[in-house]
Amino acid sequence: MTFHAKFSGYADPALHAAGLYIGGKWQSGSGITVLDPSTGNLLAEVADPSIEDAQRAVDAADAAAAGWRATPARQRSEILRRWYQLMTQHAEELATLIVLENGKALADARGEVAYAAEFFRWYAEEATRIPGEFRHTPSGSHNILVDHEPIGIAVLITPWNFPAAMATRKIGPALAAGCTVILKPASETPLTAYAMARLGEEAGVPPGVVNVLTTSNPGGITNAMLADPRVRKLSFTGSTGVGRVLLAEAAKSVVSCSMELGGNAPFIVFDDADLEAALDGAMIAKMRNAGEACTAANRFYVQAGIHDAFVAGLTARMKSLKLGPGYDPETQCGPMITQNAVRKIDRLVSEALAAGARATTGGKPLTENGYFYPPTVLENVPVNASIAREEIFGPVAPVYKFESDDEAIRLANNTEYGLAAYIYSRDLKRAMKVGKRIETGMLGINRGLMSDPAAPFGGVKQSGLGREGGVTGILEFMEPKYFAVDY
Ligand code: NAP
Repeated sequence: MTFHAKFSGYADPALHAAGLYIGGKWQSGSGITVLDPSTGNLLAEVADPSIEDAQRAVDAADAAAAGWRATPARQRSEILRRWYQLMTQHAEELATLIVLENGKALADARGEVAYAAEFFRWYAEEATRIPGEFRHTPSGSHNILVDHEPIGIAVLITPWNFPAAMATRKIGPALAAGCTVILKPASETPLTAYAMARLGEEAGVPPGVVNVLTTSNPGGITNAMLADPRVRKLSFTGSTGVGRVLLAEAAKSVVSCSMELGGNAPFIVFDDADLEAALDGAMIAKMRNAGEACTAANRFYVQAGIHDAFVAGLTARMKSLKLGPGYDPETQCGPMITQNAVRKIDRLVSEALAAGARATTGGKPLTENGYFYPPTVLENVPVNASIAREEIFGPVAPVYKFESDDEAIRLANNTEYGLAAYIYSRDLKRAMKVGKRIETGMLGINRGLMSDPAAPFGGVKQSGLGREGGVTGILEFMEPKYFAVDY
């Protein structure tokens, strides 16, 4: 990996001195350019592997598999724990790398590193608690013993929006379960993944247990790995569109899939909500990562009695945010990941405005250098606008007015997605009643933030399959084996 001289002072050189990581060996190269979204300038160049490199990565994961599987759980746990400690120790350098390649504000990047490291700590603990089962058959004919075994080599594909956390949320449980892995980070943000792999090496992860490669040919490389019968797991986080393609590809060799896909989260505010709390929650649910989060509130449904006050409060807060490069410590809203992302947001907002919406702040992309879109609030948005159906993935808050609980539920469920939802009400009974009818994998009640390594993260409908984190996350990387036992 070559790091552009202009940026080399930002992060610990020891963390970014390498490229492809296969079988414990680093291989630098070129072919994939990493840009600084604040300026569009070249940040670094990393190797672009061939299909043969991907096959070498599977070979390496295979060569390490038996040893890692046989490593006592306590030892696996201690390696993960050391990795957690090293991430914590290097938090500032990792946060800087995230800011540089992803663009998010430094405070968001620091939050991500803490969240990401926590997956290693959590799964260091879970590694030693892998459950089994013993039962009597109803007929009394024999006993049922259920063991959980590591599923095998896992391919992990992650997006650019949380370059550290999406990787640790997969590597943590996979390693705890006894699997070896090949991580393919997004091509926009490979630097953080390589830096973490460096720390993993230092923590004692044996060669071949974790392999990392970025590619400009994700389809070709992934298909080659999925076609290899030694690969038994695909864990993917990204868009629903790519998820569908990968599910079809994995079907060819019947590979087990966990899918963390897109979202279109409704944020429902009832008349009886605590307005200030709802506004605080709205800012977190909308503006963490400048709106580039799968759990980001995408549709604000606000009851008629509180609607105008909510729009006024949200507009004031969004207007006051400082836009700028993530590495400026005063920045609260960084750039979008690419110019294409800005174009998509612009299309959604322009269509909504043409259909009768009104921007109370923002509403147009900025024309200076970098990929900036300003914090925007839209009111009077038609409920069938594209912006209500598609993921915005940016700092835009469309607000819709509703009258009754039933109407809020109908609007909230009117989407193919079902990842996250939010409800604000002082009446917990009402919130729970409505919450039970919302089609979602996760629900924040009077909270704008729900992600927690100890909780099961995932969606229903076309937002995904399976759960990451929590006590069940490790089972995504294990197969139950049933022993029929007579004695
Ligand atoms: P994306 O375009 O689907 O890409 C995600 C990953 O898939 C990247 O590593 C990408 O590689 C790779 N990829 C693309 N095409 C592929 C193919 N044909 N075969 C194999 N891999 C392929 O998504 P994104 O734009 O990076 O991320 C944003 C999306 O992720 C949003 O929809 C968001 O909601 C979702 N997301 C979901 C969660 C969740 O937990 N549910 C969390 C975070 C993000 P390249 O970078 O090389 O294209």
